[in-house]
Amino acid sequence: MIVGGGIGGLSTALSLHAAGLDCVVVEAARTLRPLGVGINLQPHAVRELTELGLGDALAGLGVETTFMTFADRHGNVILSLPRGRKAGYRWPQYSIHRGELQLALLAAVRERGVPVRTGVRFEDVAQDGDGVLVTLREGDELVRERADVLVGADGVQSAVRERLWPSGGPLLWSGIRMWRGVAEGEQIMDGATVLVGGSNRAGKFVTYHISARNPRLINWVAEVKVSEPGVVSAADWYRRGSSAEVSAHFASWKYRLADIGALLSATDRILEYPMVDRDPLPQWRQGRVTLLGDAAHPMYPIGSNGGSQAVLDARVLARCLATHDDAERGLAAYEEERRPPTSALVLAHRALPIEETITLVTERAPNGFGDIREVLSEEELAAMADAQRSISDADVRALNERESWSV
Ligand SMILES: Cc1cc2nc3c(=O)[nH]c(=O)nc-3n(C[C@H](O)[C@H](O)[C@H](O)COP(=O)(O)OP(=O)(O)OC[C@H]3O[C@@H](n4cnc5c(N)ncnc54)[C@H](O)[C@@H]3O)c2cc1C
Repeated sequence: MIVGGGIGGLSTALSLHAAGLDCVVVEAARTLRPLGVGINLQPHAVRELTELGLGDALAGLGVETTFMTFADRHGNVILSLPRGRKAGYRWPQYSIHRGELQLALLAAVRERGVPVRTGVRFEDVAQDGDGVLVTLREGDELVRERADVLVGADGVQSAVRERLWPSGGPLLWSGIRMWRGVAEGEQIMDGATVLVGGSNRAGKFVTYHISARNPRLINWVAEVKVSEPGVVSAADWYRRGSSAEVSAHFASWKYRLADIGALLSATDRILEYPMVDRDPLPQWRQGRVTLLGDAAHPMYPIGSNGGSQAVLDARVLARCLATHDDAERGLAAYEEERRPPTSALVLAHRALPIEETITLVTERAPNGFGDIREVLSEEELAAMADAQRSISDADVRALNERESWSV
């Protein structure tokens, strides 16, 4: 039984089905609607979804990302890193609408006959010699059901994680608030670049195109440090933000790469979210229950990793369960493979690795620059590229040459 029909839960359903294992998804939302804004799927995740038969669907929905480009608040380019196939991967990176990706996964899960029960909320789990006994809420009713294995893929505020590890660490806020939206606008750069302007300390504005069908559709994220870091009780993906609040932070910008004012005014619904994570857990699994995706390793959404790592978790989990006769051993093998690298990623994201160099640029060239080499040395530029790669790149050759994870 998979708790949560997000990117991680639905990818798990597809992966288990492909590995010949039966499963059911229970999702708290009554209807899955295309919620959220843009996300990026890195080549290693695109490879897995392609092997699950979603290659054409992704190409029909998302924009094949060409570069990740960093600029100062005036729009002068500091560094451009090739992405996806431009970086030599055999698979593209896609910038894509989160909700459309979720619905494409849902359609594939349903086509394959895997049940997805919406309006069903996980409440509790117990275990005995026969497996897990799960308490679910369907409307006003509480029902108890058995399963061999329970996978908590229920996101950043996971109830499964809370049951397994009640003192597993609170939501830790960086002090950075993020506002997000989608709007139609003029093409930015080549129409396929993830463009990051400014810095988290003094205000950052990220833009990228997200639709193969509508080349004018742009996802934007504004990130501003508004507080000292601390603990928060909730992180709500649905919370509404206000345009006036965002524009106040960017009013002084003369940013020639994108029209921030026009994007804000063209946005129907602005969403607000605190940049949060949690300390990595020393263990995910208890018996036949484990965690996956944001439930296991929530991290700052700055490295194209939220959705991508959840997809990798899903594929490894299915492979480990299918290749071990004993479910607990399969879950242990999954955790051994996935917990160390994702824990390291959580901490690497928390360090906001390129902030230092961007701050240096602002200090050395507050009014902009012509050529970045007059501001940063080759070594400083190379260190910035390495810092970014530490959170948003796999090893190109290793991915290209590695055998398939399909069972
Ligand atoms: C509504 C929404 C909007 C988002 N928007 C963005 C975005 O714009 N940009 C971005 O980078 N990331 C966004 N994310 C997060 C992003 O999807 C994840 O970081 C990433 O895809 C990993 O996915 P996940 O499946 O682990 O978690 P999620 O995508 O968060 O999915 C978790 C699922 O579990 C369900 N669930 C929660 N509790 C229970 C319960 N007790 N019982 C049953 N089901 C439960 C939720 O309804 C949800 O469908 C959003 C997530 C959500 C839920």
